[in-house]
Amino acid sequence: MPASVNVVAHLPKTLILWDIDHTLIENGGVSKATYTLAFELLAGRAPSARPATDGRTDFQIMHELLSANSIDTEKYVEVTQFEGVLVEAMERNAPQLPQRGHILPGVTEALTALSAVPSVIQSILTGNIAPNARAKLSAFNLDRWVDLDVGGYGSDDTIRANLVNTSRRKVLKKYRTAFDRLSTILIGDTPLDVKAAREGGARIIAVATGAYSADQLVEAGADATLDSLADLNRFMTTLVNLRTDAILA
Ligand SMILES: [Mg+2]
Repeated sequence: MPASVNVVAHLPKTLILWDIDHTLIENGGVSKATYTLAFELLAGRAPSARPATDGRTDFQIMHELLSANSIDTEKYVEVTQFEGVLVEAMERNAPQLPQRGHILPGVTEALTALSAVPSVIQSILTGNIAPNARAKLSAFNLDRWVDLDVGGYGSDDTIRANLVNTSRRKVLKKYRTAFDRLSTILIGDTPLDVKAAREGGARIIAVATGAYSADQLVEAGADATLDSLADLNRFMTTLVNLRTDAILA
């Protein structure tokens, strides 16, 4: 058994909420193609402007995509309104995920190691709507390591920070276990993940495997940063230290 697994064997109860894109996987452009296709299904034409998507919820992305392409967004007020086109677009594009994308280094090892720790519940906190989060993870066989039932998704709320409590409510209902600011740890790659942790009441390990450097993530207020998850021992030590500091604080 690797030393890192022994370290986390002493981890107090912890809810770990993983971001998907640029944290667990690279989607190889399939995500952007999916928003473009969803726009086409909705608007009947291709978008000419494509705003940034990193760290945003699917509702925010679709809203910004529509308004950047001069489409009135006034009638789109419900989080579920884009779900039909997003699901259809992902169903068409998901078969490309294993070819165009890949699992990021160290991710399988980290998920596997944590799944062996009884005090840990692992799920997802993502701006993706739930069916599309499931599609992305299952394309890479990562869905078996996380409990998707208790995740916070872009289909639950338009605001990413609110997804922290959404997940905790689902966890409480399913596991009869409450998690708070000190026992909930997000892992994500953007300043918006950091903001979600801070505003949603959680701590965050930010990984610089997306578009942002470790320095930028520190500046955003991350509790800890890693260049990547490639070093399992380093990740586990960071996690245990963060969790232990939280208890001592
Ligand atoms: Mg991300």
